[in-house]
Amino acid sequence: MLTAHRNVNLLIQQAGQFRPNAVVIGDDSLYRKVFDALDPLDIKVYSGEKSLTSVVEMDTIDVVLTAMVGYSGLKPTLRAIESGRQIALANKETLVIAGDLITKAAKEKGVNIYPVDSEHSAIFQCLVGDFQNKIEKIILTASGGPFRGKVYEELKYVKAAQALKHPNWDMGAKITIDSATMMNKGLEVIEAKWLFGLDNNQIDVVVHPQSIIHSMVQFEDGSIKAQMGLPDMRLPIQYALSYPDRLKSDFPRFNFMDYPELTFEQADLETFRNLALSYQALEKGGNLPCILNAANEIAVDAFLKDEIGFLEISEVIEQSMGSIDFLNHPTLEDYVSTDIETRIKAKEIINKWVVH
Ligand code: MN
Repeated sequence: MLTAHRNVNLLIQQAGQFRPNAVVIGDDSLYRKVFDALDPLDIKVYSGEKSLTSVVEMDTIDVVLTAMVGYSGLKPTLRAIESGRQIALANKETLVIAGDLITKAAKEKGVNIYPVDSEHSAIFQCLVGDFQNKIEKIILTASGGPFRGKVYEELKYVKAAQALKHPNWDMGAKITIDSATMMNKGLEVIEAKWLFGLDNNQIDVVVHPQSIIHSMVQFEDGSIKAQMGLPDMRLPIQYALSYPDRLKSDFPRFNFMDYPELTFEQADLETFRNLALSYQALEKGGNLPCILNAANEIAVDAFLKDEIGFLEISEVIEQSMGSIDFLNHPTLEDYVSTDIETRIKAKEIINKWVVH
């Protein structure tokens, strides 16, 4: 089973190559195109957001890899967990928004959540063989993105096109902007809390521009394990699906002589305020991470359309966090309404700037 939201051509190409029993295209208007291409190959075609969510219940599915962008991943992931499917999670926002509900549901259903995010895959790989040992802390590495080392003033006028040039990873637009603002790392801090059951003060971030060490775990004896390799998402994706086995691959190998220096820096929380805001959301909990995420999705979208400046992304998020009602123990319905309310609020904030 393969699914896609709107990327018809890639869906058709992959379905032709891997021959799944069925595919789902999220956007109804693209059904005909997919049907015409895949019906001759005897591949069933479904469409619509509802099909995307219900398809995870099919008996033939063992593992669901959720790789949707942002909030859209929440409900399909929850449905997959409730259907007892193992999860390979690439959609970090799901855990950011509702980590408490997701991890509780997974526990009740005996579902494992295997991380696909490279940092969390690294931590998971470091934990293999050490599951019985307590973690003292984890150290998430961050590349620092395209604006590492820049000061506040220099970031005022940067445009989406500049922010979209990531030095090490080739990714989608949303996550690339998140990487430039350091929001990606902020979301990953919250994701790590839920994946590994950590306290807030057990999660450190260090900037490591080469992106060779993908993250580290420090144990109670002081020993640190790191997982290393070239930045290549194929490895964490493969490991999430093959665990506990390691499958032979021909991915390019890391050569120490190509990297005579691996360097480390403190993250700049004053320039990259999204990371500081993420730590605040983590600390207060409740629906605050959900607010942080929704405001960020709206702000990034506005930045990509050149409606707001780079530094205003944090402004939208901070103002949203200050104006939506705080809920200490939200239900799923509360998260859904917090998400909607925050999007409306964030758009209001943006419109006030854009109009005059
Ligand atoms: Mn990552």
